[in-house]
Amino acid sequence: MAKARYSGLALLRHGLVGHPWPAAWRSHELKPSYDVVIVGGGIHGLATAYYLARNHGITDVAVLDKGYLGGGGSGRNTAILRSNYLTPEGVRFYDRSLELYRGLAADLNFNVMFSRRGHLTLAHSDASLRTMRWRAEVNKASGVDSEVVGPDDVKQIVPHMDTSERVRYPILGALYHPPGGIVRHDAVVWGYARAAASRGVHLHQDTEVTAIGVSAGRVTGVRTTRGDIAAPVVINAAAGWATLVADMAGVRLPVQTFPLQAAVTEPVKPFLRTVIVSGTLHVYVSQTARGELVFGASVDPFASYSTRGSLEFTEGLAGHVLQLMPSLAKMRLLRQWAGLCDMTPDFAPIMGPTDVGGFLVDVGWGTYGFKAGPVAGETMAESVATGRTPQLISSFGLERFAQGRLLGEKGAAAVGH
Ligand SMILES: Cc1cc2nc3c(=O)[nH]c(=O)nc-3n(C[C@H](O)[C@H](O)[C@H](O)COP(=O)(O)OP(=O)(O)OC[C@H]3O[C@@H](n4cnc5c(N)ncnc54)[C@H](O)[C@@H]3O)c2cc1C
Repeated sequence: MAKARYSGLALLRHGLVGHPWPAAWRSHELKPSYDVVIVGGGIHGLATAYYLARNHGITDVAVLDKGYLGGGGSGRNTAILRSNYLTPEGVRFYDRSLELYRGLAADLNFNVMFSRRGHLTLAHSDASLRTMRWRAEVNKASGVDSEVVGPDDVKQIVPHMDTSERVRYPILGALYHPPGGIVRHDAVVWGYARAAASRGVHLHQDTEVTAIGVSAGRVTGVRTTRGDIAAPVVINAAAGWATLVADMAGVRLPVQTFPLQAAVTEPVKPFLRTVIVSGTLHVYVSQTARGELVFGASVDPFASYSTRGSLEFTEGLAGHVLQLMPSLAKMRLLRQWAGLCDMTPDFAPIMGPTDVGGFLVDVGWGTYGFKAGPVAGETMAESVATGRTPQLISSFGLERFAQGRLLGEKGAAAVGH
């Protein structure tokens, strides 16, 4: 299906002629077989489908979602992008994703509103300052722009921040990462969906996978609420529901699902350019292009599939935000929400093949998987097309847990999504 090209000229033409825009993608009947079935229509499933089609010419692909595209974490996250991780494997991987994000609007012909803002991770103790220095050195060794700055620099970058010593947790310094920023999350989902569909990928919403067929150690297809599909390759990109989907194929994952909450204020004039994270205070904040402040925290302290917001979260959040920026005291929260996070023990993802032939996983994205969507899609597509695991994700295999080769990304991924 050819897609309409979005451009200033097209906008003018449509405005003058008054014709409605064609649908960004259309629905299809479920085919009895596909070359590749992807379970999960979030950024990971959609990006994988897009790069399969664009980079490898594999277009007989179905993306199945039990709800609507982007209805999982991909439409609920706070859209923070950065590559200032702690392990060299993580830094290289997320940096490739940032590179893809920078060119994504042009690549997809869809304005994803990528905005490079700079990213500050505050240190309120000697121990966290030490971790920041460690991260800065690992980042620099991989060519990623990060440096440790002092409280005066923090005040200069964010004048509204209370950098005095009167507070309970004074700011001792911060890791400053200029390439970090934000993006419009649903635009990214819609952009990938539209671009994948225009290359022949079928997007099936309201289509829940209820069973996965396995015969002689190989995947044979999936059973869905709309019928059966035969497929030699099935990819689990179901994030918060990843273990439920993996169980259907008899694959056990070291993943637990936790809710993560976020909240947004009424819009105000732009005053906060930088993304701010405080691990000690369990809070982070950024300002959208529309002027709202977006707040987040660490995951709820219990495993659950619930996506309800809680008053405890809002109370804790408000207290912590005001310790950082007391001048926000009069701002009103507009709404709060929650999503599900598939947490691994080492805060790094699980990507690649499993013991069931043809059944691949792209899971364990925890609180940090939105920024990884483009590179995860690119590398998962390459894994399928070549039958080999790309070097960039070779450390993220499921076998690392049995082999005791965990990665240790917690110091850079617990609150700072
Ligand atoms: C509040 C919050 C804030 C966050 N902030 C950030 C951030 O700032 N930066 C960042 O990088 N990351 C962030 N994240 C994490 C990020 O949102 C996720 O890691 C990422 O969106 C995962 O994408 P995905 O495509 O793997 O999964 P999802 O977007 O969750 O998609 C999985 C899909 O699978 C579908 N599904 C599940 N089971 C089945 C089934 N049986 N059959 C068919 N379909 C099924 C679901 O309906 C869902 O749509 C945040 C998450 C939350 C909740």
